[in-house]
This record gives sequence, C-alpha cells and structure tokens, in this order.
Amino acid sequence: SKAWTLHQHFQGFPKASDFHLREETLPQPRDGQVLLEAVFLSVDPYMRPYSQTMMKEGDVMIGSQVAKVIQSYNPSFPVGCHVVSDCGWRSHWVCDGAELTPVLPDWPQDIPLSLALGAIGMPGLTALYGLEEVCEIKKGETLLVNAAAGAVGSVVGQIAKIKGCRVVGCAGTDTKVSYLKQLGFDQVFNYKTVTSLEESLREAAPHGYDCYFENVGGKFSSVVMPQMREYGRIAVCGSISMYNDTTPQTGILSTPQTGPYVHTYMIFKQLRMEGFLCARWKHKHQQSLRRLMAWMTEGKLRCNEHITSGFNNMPAAFMGMLQGDNIGKAVVKV
Ligand code: NDP
Repeated sequence: SKAWTLHQHFQGFPKASDFHLREETLPQPRDGQVLLEAVFLSVDPYMRPYSQTMMKEGDVMIGSQVAKVIQSYNPSFPVGCHVVSDCGWRSHWVCDGAELTPVLPDWPQDIPLSLALGAIGMPGLTALYGLEEVCEIKKGETLLVNAAAGAVGSVVGQIAKIKGCRVVGCAGTDTKVSYLKQLGFDQVFNYKTVTSLEESLREAAPHGYDCYFENVGGKFSSVVMPQMREYGRIAVCGSISMYNDTTPQTGILSTPQTGPYVHTYMIFKQLRMEGFLCARWKHKHQQSLRRLMAWMTEGKLRCNEHITSGFNNMPAAFMGMLQGDNIGKAVVKV
C-alpha cells in the first residue's frame, strides 16, 4: 500500500518536495472490516488551508476517494462494491463500515463513478446548499459565481439556471469561458484578461447582483461588494485566491468612505453574508445527491472532469488544480 504524506508544511504555492510517497503495511482486515482499493481520488482546494492549520508534517494528506471493496468481513460492504472513503491520499486502506458512504444505490451505468467526488458528491452538494440554504436564491434573480468553471462553480451556475436565474460567471482562461457559455451561463468573462474587473462586472449585470457565490475571496470580493443589490446575499464558500498567500493582499476594499472592510455596503444595502461548510446539512446529503443525480440523468446538469492518471501523480494533480489547470472537477484515476 502507498500513501502520500505532507513532508513539510507548504510555504506559499505547494511544490513537489513538500510531499512524500511512503510504503505502508496494512493489517489483515478483521471481522466487520473491509480492505479498500482506491479507484478515483479527489484533489480539492480545502486541502491547502487544512494542511496548514490541522496537519502535522508526516501526516497522510487528507482527502476523499471512490474505492472498491476488495476483501470484506462486513456484509454491508460486499467485495466489488464501491464506496466513498475519507481515508486520504492512500492506495489501500483497512477500515470498518462506520467510516464509509456507499455510492448512491442504482448509480446509472453510463455515469462515471468519479462523479461521486464531483457533481454527485461533496462539490455538488456545496453548490446546492450554498444556493438554496445560504443564498435562498429565487427565480428571476441575478447570481454571480467565480471560479465558475471548477467543480463547485460549474454546478452553482447550472442549478441557478434550472431555478430560472440570470447567471454571471468568471474564470481564468478563454477555454473555460467557452465551456461556461456551452453550459448556459448568461454572461461569462475571463477575469485574468479584462482591463477592469469592476467594469466587466457592471457590464455583465448593470442592475447589480442579488446573490454572490464566493469561491475566490480577496480583492475580487472587494470589487463585487459595491455592486450587490439591496438585500443581496453572499454565500462565502471559499477564498482560493488567498490560500497560497504569504503576505496580505493589497487593494482590498479600504477607503475613508467605506471603512476598512465591508461594513458600509453591508449596512446600507442590508446585505447578508454567511460562511458555510457543506457538512452542515449532512442530514440532507442522501436526498440532495438524488436531486443532483436526477438533474444529471435529465441532461440539465453536466460536469466535465479533469482526470490525471496515476496515484504517483497526486501532488501534480493537486498543484495543477490550484493553478487552474482543471475544467470541472479535478480527480486522479489510479
Ligand atoms: P475548482 O474546481 O474550482 O478548482 C480551483 C479553481 O480555482 C481553479 O481551477 C482556478 O480556476 C481557480 N483559482 C485558483 N487560483 C485563483 C485565484 N487566485 N483567483 C481566482 N481563481 C483562482 O475547486 P472547487 O470547485 O473544488 O472549489 C471552489 C471553491 O469552493 C474553493 O474556494 C474551495 O475552497 C471552496 N469549497 C468550499 C466548500 C465548503 O464546504 N465551504 C466545499 C468545497 C469547496 P481559474 O482558471 O478560473 O482561475
């Protein structure tokens, strides 16, 4: 069995030498236990801030995978079945069923199992909860989502379209912009090549934004804040533009008129801004996954995947995702 560990804490953007591939000898599974073999592993942005605050050097990298049961002493998980496991960047693992989630029963044959790590998994759920529970988005409203071509963002925009909203998205390459237009986004722009982010946002929605699904943070959100409409809602999902920072970003909203942060806009526009973690609605996960799957089988939800081959390429896949190589969900196929 192989496992990737955090060799040393990241300083700024991760580098290959921050990771270490170690061989492990696993115990024989006992009664109630199963032996798992990884099939697809997820690389996600949260791993970057999580490693900084929650992990020690030498710990196995945190993460989810779709795994196949290859030995079983647990009748709930027979040999050959697929599960989602949070055992980290490991090729194999021995555990009992309590730590495992079976993939949805009746998973359609023509839908790749890797989507259990994407649109029909945690990122899809994050998109759904951010829109419904946090933004409480309503038909006819205008939504802004950034990192829009990624795992979460691409689902956010499509669900908002299903709900009859106007969707503005931005992403970091022209290929991503075309992809989002194909998905049905109303206005899309490349935030890296526009001359003025502020003007592009205003052109895309001259009347402003009712909802802002925030994946990027930093300077980007500073620019959005003045363009929120009265009673707007901001779902603070992530802040990927800040995860690798070693010094504070400059250009963040701070003027004598607005004060140092967001207060002026929050007050006078009566905005609601709420951070959230997908796991808050764990009790709804099963029914929510079914809703996502239904949209997918009806052709209303599409999800590209950026697949890297080989367990040995986990660090490269992770770093690639952080720098924007992926269109849709970044996964590793063993
Ligand atoms: P993505 O698939 O969107 O991959 C990350 C993307 O972020 C890249 O492709 C890149 O796209 C973009 N990006 C990277 N650096 C920057 C930057 N400096 N400025 C703007 N965009 C950048 O990842 P996910 O969909 O998995 O995650 C999206 C966000 O959601 C993250 O912030 C993540 O932490 C958060 N999240 C939160 C959860 C929660 O429960 N709260 C759960 C899951 C995710 P581009 O080419 O467009 O720059």
